[in-house]
Amino acid sequence: MKPADRVELFKRFRAANPKPVTELEYQTPFELLAAVLLSAQATDRSVNAATRLLFAVARTPAAILALGVEGLEPYLRTIGLYRSKTKHLIETCRILVQAHGGEVPRDREALEALPGVGRKTANVVLNTAFGEPTMAVDTHIFRVSNRMKLAVGKTPRQVEDGLMRAVPTDALVDAHHWLILHGRYVCKARKPECWRCPVADLCPYRPKTPDPLAADAPAPRAQAKSSGQAPTASRRRVQSES
Ligand code: SF4
Repeated sequence: MKPADRVELFKRFRAANPKPVTELEYQTPFELLAAVLLSAQATDRSVNAATRLLFAVARTPAAILALGVEGLEPYLRTIGLYRSKTKHLIETCRILVQAHGGEVPRDREALEALPGVGRKTANVVLNTAFGEPTMAVDTHIFRVSNRMKLAVGKTPRQVEDGLMRAVPTDALVDAHHWLILHGRYVCKARKPECWRCPVADLCPYRPKTPDPLAADAPAPRAQAKSSGQAPTASRRRVQSES
């Protein structure tokens, strides 16, 4: 994508959503870290449903550590991979209490040393809790960046590095949220909704998905008859179905 188009792309994302936020519910860096850790291969909705109950009784590393695996597991049962996530969260809390005074470190290396925390989770925490310009490349950002040729790559790390070079400086902090939301609601995995995409004219992806309503709109029979025009394939289909 050309530099001028990249600037325009993020100008439009900003105009439509000036303050993009994560859909995970949290109030502190630790709650965000816990929610992101739990969100791997699970929906934000299922994580929010679980953490609403959990954070009502335990919202600090010390409090969750005190629950222990047996006390924590019932809160996480509705989330995919809950057994391993329970163990990871307990061990993460133990390290936060013992090595970081119960606080979430603002440091990539320290974050990635926590059980269940990889580069993507560290990037989310650094970006969303601490406002750092990082790109947490999830499945949505990976797909959208490649389709739009904003950052092309075969691995999340390649796309992350490409985005850090391609995204205009003033959009770096918010780009991660804009791209996730765009992928989640418009540029969907199975069928991108190009017909209602606000950046379609900037996007080189082909073929663009046409508006399904326009494609299926039945041709007015009377008009076809009166014009003497032979029905097209789609008109024939519509007529035989009626
Ligand atoms: S035009 Fe289509 S492929 Fe391109 S960003 Fe929009 S929805 Fe995605």
